[in-house]
Amino acid sequence: MIERILSVIFPNKCPYCGKIIKFGLTECEECYYELDKTPKISHTDAGITCISPFFYDSRVRRSILNYKFKGISFNAKSYAKAICSAIESTGTADDFDIITFVPLSKLRENERGFNQSRKVAEMVGEYFDKPCRTLLEKTKNNKNQHDLNLQQRRENVKGVYSICPKADIKAKRILLIDDIVTTGNTMAECCNVLRAEGAGSIMCMSIAAATLD
Ligand SMILES: [Zn+2]
Repeated sequence: MIERILSVIFPNKCPYCGKIIKFGLTECEECYYELDKTPKISHTDAGITCISPFFYDSRVRRSILNYKFKGISFNAKSYAKAICSAIESTGTADDFDIITFVPLSKLRENERGFNQSRKVAEMVGEYFDKPCRTLLEKTKNNKNQHDLNLQQRRENVKGVYSICPKADIKAKRILLIDDIVTTGNTMAECCNVLRAEGAGSIMCMSIAAATLD
């Protein structure tokens, strides 16, 4: 009820085009039908396979930038919905026991006020009724992958993630969520840490798949 009242005072906007949308919708009808949400499967240079509902271009790119850097958290609902549909349409809903996300460094998370991947991962967990857990931590504040070339990206993520002290993941099947996959080096490094702790299997997903500029 409160959400409904607030939506009259502060109406929700479509994450992709900014048009005001009705209460209960996560994007406008036009964007819903026009955006290509068929699961994209990236076999990345870093050796991981990642499924993403969107390509990181035009409207999707703008919406993710608004989400991450302007804190428009409403957008997360639409991304989570698209990831859930991709899971269902690829028949992978029974392939994981727990969900986790790529962590930010404490410094970056404080700056941003939230972890964009965690928010989406929690919503995916709610939908499938599976636990979303913080399994990884980023212990070093490295450079932004976006500003680096292929070789530098590989080096930049080495040793920056570690397992959380209380995480018990022995033989667990994990769904790992990130916002954007490009070369896959970040996710590959997270997978290395999870595997070293005995994870049974890891399935990687991101909101969008990007190509290296
Ligand atoms: Zn729209």
